[in-house]
Amino acid sequence: MSNDHLDRLVPRLRPFEKSIFGEMSALATRVGAVNLGQGFPDSDGPDELKRIAIEAIDSGSGNQYPPVHGLPDLRLAIAEHQQRFYGLTVDPVTDVVVTTGASEALAAALIALVNQGDQVIVLEPYFDLYAAAIAIAEGERIAVPLRTPAQTGSGFRLDAEALRAAASSPRARILLLNSPHNPTGMVLTDAELAEVADIAIAHDLIVISDEAYEHLVFEPNRHVPIATLPAMFERTVTIGSGGKSFSFTGWKVGWASGPADLVAAVRVVRQHLSYVSGGPFQPAIAAGLRLPDFYFAHLIEGFDRRRHSLSNGLAELGFGVCATDGTYFVVTDVRGVGYEDGETFCRELPERAGVVAIPI
Ligand code: PMP
Repeated sequence: MSNDHLDRLVPRLRPFEKSIFGEMSALATRVGAVNLGQGFPDSDGPDELKRIAIEAIDSGSGNQYPPVHGLPDLRLAIAEHQQRFYGLTVDPVTDVVVTTGASEALAAALIALVNQGDQVIVLEPYFDLYAAAIAIAEGERIAVPLRTPAQTGSGFRLDAEALRAAASSPRARILLLNSPHNPTGMVLTDAELAEVADIAIAHDLIVISDEAYEHLVFEPNRHVPIATLPAMFERTVTIGSGGKSFSFTGWKVGWASGPADLVAAVRVVRQHLSYVSGGPFQPAIAAGLRLPDFYFAHLIEGFDRRRHSLSNGLAELGFGVCATDGTYFVVTDVRGVGYEDGETFCRELPERAGVVAIPI
């Protein structure tokens, strides 16, 4: 397709006109299909959090600019959360920044930490925002493919040797890590995390760890932030998403935490992107982060049940279904139902079955 209408856009950003999620969601709306393609849950998060946001609007306490790096009580709640779930000690005053979703945290971290031409390593397949944000930051994206189910005999897994080879480039500077992983549902194991940490330390990489799905991990898997490994905290920016953890994806409250020097860099950029965001939602997400363990256990039970019914149903239809350890996503191999490529399959699926999925 001609992209003359993008003449004014700088050439390096022209490939990013469309997001596959936006495109497929529009298709879902157009044909009235069930949209399984976008990462959002079917039901809203807790009513008690809604009430806090509504009250913050009604009382006026949430309607004007909140403090630049985030409401102090939300930053405190983020610090308490990192301590409670992972034993990580972060100072809410210097080591935390509230962002407009995990998306802005990712963009700000990349813009702040990537010098022009630095290589940013991503595990492939990856969330499409990564490619665009790396290009915005003028970095060079180096994709390290995961080992596929055909290679591992089960799910997608880290290819540590390929990662080590990519990291050994003298221009490699950042590892953009994502576990639980969109779109494969892979959750890095302790052994894989140890290899990643070893590589990051050996090659002096900064790790931007996208942990948006930290609370969406199925037993017996567990989420371990890479920042908890020895000598990793000081080189890691850890990113979370209130949208994902509390099923309010439209609220767009996220955060980054880590050592003060890295967070200071992220803060400088982020304050000039959105300055602040989500006034009424910030106290609500603070309350969410303090919900009892029961909430988090219940959240995952619901997703686990639906994961099984979707995976079993797809397998019965003849799809090759890849084991998923976490996230909202299930990856299937469409060759079992007579297709050779996922894109053709996904373009035909809405008309044929009233369902939208995303090609990897
Ligand atoms: N990281 C990953 C891996 C995601 O899948 C998403 C949302 N799809 C985000 C970050 C963005 O999260 P948020 O809505 O909080 O900006």
